[in-house]
Amino acid sequence: MTNDTWGQVREELIKRVGRNNYTTWIEPLRLSGLSNGVARFEVPTTFFGDWVSRNFSDHIRGQLSEAGATVDRVEFAVGSARKPAQPKAAAKAAAPVDGSAPKVATPRKASLGRAGQGEDIPGAQLESRFTFENFVVGKPNELAHAAARRVAEGGPVTFNPLFLYGGVGLGKTHLMNAIAHELQARRPELRVLYLSAEQFMYRFVQALRERQIMDFKELFRSVDVLMVDDVQFIAGKDSTQEEFFHTFNALVDQHKQIVISADRAPGEIKDLEDRIKSRLQCGLVVDLHPTDYELRLGILLAKVDHYRNQYRGLVMQPGVLEFLAHRITTNVRVLEGALMRLFAFASLVGRPIDLDLAQECLSDILRTSEKRLSIEEIQRKVAEHYNVRLSDIIGPKRLRTIARPRQVAMYLSKHLTSRSLPEIGRRFGGRDHTTIMHGVRKIEELMAADNQLADDVQLLKRLLQS
Ligand code: ADP
Ligand code: MG
Repeated sequence: MTNDTWGQVREELIKRVGRNNYTTWIEPLRLSGLSNGVARFEVPTTFFGDWVSRNFSDHIRGQLSEAGATVDRVEFAVGSARKPAQPKAAAKAAAPVDGSAPKVATPRKASLGRAGQGEDIPGAQLESRFTFENFVVGKPNELAHAAARRVAEGGPVTFNPLFLYGGVGLGKTHLMNAIAHELQARRPELRVLYLSAEQFMYRFVQALRERQIMDFKELFRSVDVLMVDDVQFIAGKDSTQEEFFHTFNALVDQHKQIVISADRAPGEIKDLEDRIKSRLQCGLVVDLHPTDYELRLGILLAKVDHYRNQYRGLVMQPGVLEFLAHRITTNVRVLEGALMRLFAFASLVGRPIDLDLAQECLSDILRTSEKRLSIEEIQRKVAEHYNVRLSDIIGPKRLRTIARPRQVAMYLSKHLTSRSLPEIGRRFGGRDHTTIMHGVRKIEELMAADNQLADDVQLLKRLLQS
């Protein structure tokens, strides 16, 4: 097979995996060989290879076979494949800004900086590691990522504003920084201003105090791209909202791109004026969903190389990353923190990183991430499983077909929650704790003898804990 065939296959792959995945994961691949049924590709990093192998190797193999190549296996090795271009402006952006100037990425920074005369106003720093290259894309964030990419191309404004929202630690700030980095690299002539809503307010108040409100207005109206992070912050702050609204409108009128983030949807931000809410909804509103297991694992895989390099010689047992991805479901920041702590702890005590060590060193994080299961959820699932009414599970009926499921629910409540027997009793229609104890024992006995029941209980356990 020739590189031409690979070229055609790649075209097909765009349709299969989507443009976005294609650009991120397929385009950088370099076909380095095809023999004995093995297609070999060069990839930029180990993580990259792992990810493509996990997610796209079936597609690649399938498409190669369709194109007439006999391929049983696809292999990835780190080679000279092109690394996605490192925006050179990113380094510049990460450097401390001169005193007070806001983070305006422009050759004409000095003239813009004039507005920020108050020497003590902190400017918004871009974080150099928050790039698209370091952003792992999965189902929960693919739309937000695609929208951010689009804006970062710096083409004509197609939606305004881009409104990104989602829970804490899901990557909003990361994506906004990535847009800024990318724009600086692609369109250095654009003036890109990134700051938090809090900084916006701070600068505004400062300008009022120093009677430089005209300078303030001029600064904010002269940028090409305005990005305001965590806009929920200005809710309830009346004059800041007012000023923000005017700035926003002025920029939209000039067809300048605006990117906003918040911890919730525009309509759900309390104490935000209605006219601002509706303005914010005018463009494209996309949310970052809570992470799923695959995304968390992808993020861990992306970060672990860094620590492996930093702590050379530390052994990491297989399964540890999977364990973390499974158990730490709160947010990405906590996940990253856990990984960092794990390496630091292991190197300190000189032990390999295994599940025991993870459990020991992360017990606090693991506890808070543990799913809090309510007794009602248990009762509901059990009722559903045995096809009886929830009210019967709680009620007084003694029929075997109801009493048995009720005892199963008691058993599960005892084993899957930390509630005491009297508490459980109260939630089962005010039964005595001895009744609960009896029910739990009964199920334990029966499970030893009755395989069907044992299976039912296992299944319910799994359903409830997933
Ligand atoms: P938010 O602003 O939504 O609270 P951040 O953008 O600050 O969250 O993200 C928190 C941390 O998690 C950052 O260190 C960021 O790099 C990391 N992170 C979040 N999502 C991803 C992702 N998809 N890929 C890689 N790192 C991520
Ligand atoms: Mg943030």
